[in-house]
Amino acid sequence: MKIKHIEHIGIAVRSLEQAIAFYETKLGLPCYAIEEVPEQKVRTAFFKVGQTKVELLESTDPEGPIGKFIENRGEGVHHIAFATEGLQENLDELARNGIRLIDKNPRYGAEGLHIAFLHPKDTLGVLTELCENPKQ
Ligand code: ZN
Repeated sequence: MKIKHIEHIGIAVRSLEQAIAFYETKLGLPCYAIEEVPEQKVRTAFFKVGQTKVELLESTDPEGPIGKFIENRGEGVHHIAFATEGLQENLDELARNGIRLIDKNPRYGAEGLHIAFLHPKDTLGVLTELCENPKQ
């Protein structure tokens, strides 16, 4: 298992527009991309903070994962994502070591990354995402 750095921190927000305005005008971080990910029923906005990004997540469907998260827990930190190499091998290794996986195989996330989520019950309550950039 090799984790390179924190790829991004995912934050669930009710309104992408309001959240972008806060990040841009109050924190001085320009939004460099907005992308809809229909498979996850979200619209995302990205901000670079050094090598790490902030990913704001707005639900496009109350029944989607972010819609349910906000209904249950309100806005806030949703997940942490680590950049890795060899994503499938890492998932296999974790599964062998008894860590439950939400995604047994990588799927497509925003920004062309391959992503997979680990089960928060086995990651100390923090929804954890592993990412791999197929272009690197
Ligand atoms: Zn993410």
